[in-house]
Amino acid sequence: MNVAIVGAGASGAAVAYALRDADADVTVFEKSRGVCGRAATRRREDCQYDHGANYVKDEDERVNRLLTEELDSEGLVDVEAPVWTFDASGEITEGRADDERKWTYEDGITQVAKRLLARTDATVHRETRVEGIAREDGRWSLADSEDAALGSFDRLVLTPPAPQTADLLATMAWDDERRIDVHDAVAAVDYASVFTAVCHYPFELDRPWYALVNTDREHPVGWLSREELKPGHVPDGESLLVVQMGHDWSGERIDDDPDQVLRESVGHATELLADDAFADPDWTDHQGWRYALPDGGVTGDTHRDCEDAGLYFAGDWVVGESRVHAALANGLEVGERVASSE
Ligand SMILES: Cc1cc2nc3c(=O)[nH]c(=O)nc-3n(C[C@H](O)[C@H](O)[C@H](O)COP(=O)(O)OP(=O)(O)OC[C@H]3O[C@@H](n4cnc5c(N)ncnc54)[C@H](O)[C@@H]3O)c2cc1C
Repeated sequence: MNVAIVGAGASGAAVAYALRDADADVTVFEKSRGVCGRAATRRREDCQYDHGANYVKDEDERVNRLLTEELDSEGLVDVEAPVWTFDASGEITEGRADDERKWTYEDGITQVAKRLLARTDATVHRETRVEGIAREDGRWSLADSEDAALGSFDRLVLTPPAPQTADLLATMAWDDERRIDVHDAVAAVDYASVFTAVCHYPFELDRPWYALVNTDREHPVGWLSREELKPGHVPDGESLLVVQMGHDWSGERIDDDPDQVLRESVGHATELLADDAFADPDWTDHQGWRYALPDGGVTGDTHRDCEDAGLYFAGDWVVGESRVHAALANGLEVGERVASSE
């Protein structure tokens, strides 16, 4: 059985991992240079920082086992300091005592997909955007953005965010009414956008929390965290803030000049921290995530109805929970269904 997986995010990598012992030839196509999708890590100077997903929550036992027992756990770290809260007025309050684990890796959260894929024989084609999909002679033929053939497969697993999966379904050459039904269901999944500002300072930050989260969702800043509390991410004596702006605020500015949006973001973070020292980071970075977080999941079963034709869907939007652990758990489940479809 030949299996194509489109996307090497947490879910796509988990699908490949679940197929590692199956009698399957697995090929993964990823449009970016790196793997792990929205669970992303960048390096700059001597720092590395997770500028998309901050960490993997420990809410799923299967995923906990995967991270702590099945995969190489060297460099797996739990961010121990607490998350505090703030409201629309910027008033900061000590968070509830919680002992949930917040997993990432010394080398960054992208290790999740890297370590999953390392345990497979899958062929991974990076910088390869799948654009054309056709059903031909009972198989799935794929083509890239230059219309070059990428091969023909018995099973196809689509894992891009729902709007990008809907684009693929819109142009898919598959003369079957399930295509229209599943397209409409997938296209209906709404997303929140998030603008991420990254601010580096050549001094230490002395606060008792790892992160601050806006609980009433009425502050321009949605989340602010300290990357230096993740072992291996920031050299001693320095600090690096990851500031994720609120959904409404980000959505209104996602097409604006990013340098201007960055400046405004730094201003709001400085105000929240009530210290002008944060107004002037010595370097910054940013990322506008247009499709950051699905707002709920796909409704109905049309996506499952396609499995008879060898077409599967995986990702956070499939389960309606915009979390890495949910994407991983769903990828494992979908991969197991593909394996048992042999
Ligand atoms: C700013 C931000 C903060 C977040 N914070 C957290 C957090 O703290 N904790 C948490 O658990 N979750 C968090 N999340 C959510 C988490 O990142 C996602 O739920 C999870 O990473 C989704 O994984 P996925 O595999 O479903 O999708 P993705 O990670 O989006 O993977 C899909 C992959 O498909 C690729 N792709 C798309 N189209 C094509 C194509 N045509 N051809 C080839 N490849 C394609 C993409 O490049 C991508 O790599 C956050 C997300 C964002 C954006």
